[in-house]
Amino acid sequence: PFVITSPCIGEKNGSCVEVCPVDCIEEGKDMFYIDPDICIDCGACEPVCPVEAIYPDDEVPEEEAQYIEINRAFYEG
Ligand code: SF4
Repeated sequence: PFVITSPCIGEKNGSCVEVCPVDCIEEGKDMFYIDPDICIDCGACEPVCPVEAIYPDDEVPEEEAQYIEINRAFYEG
């Protein structure tokens, strides 16, 4: 799945939500999160993010790696 990382915090642009074909991006208190169980890896969200916060999970920068679990944890409640 794709993953939203720290640049989203404080930005919360939300363009990704509008382009996601399976509606798997939800707004949290500080940022948006992608549901890894629903994401179909289409890649539509990545280029529309103005702060380049979105990466495929296997391309997340090392310093942002914790966000893979943070996105998943949001949906596990
Ligand atoms: Fe939605 Fe596609 Fe982005 Fe996954 S890669 S979150 S399905 S827009």
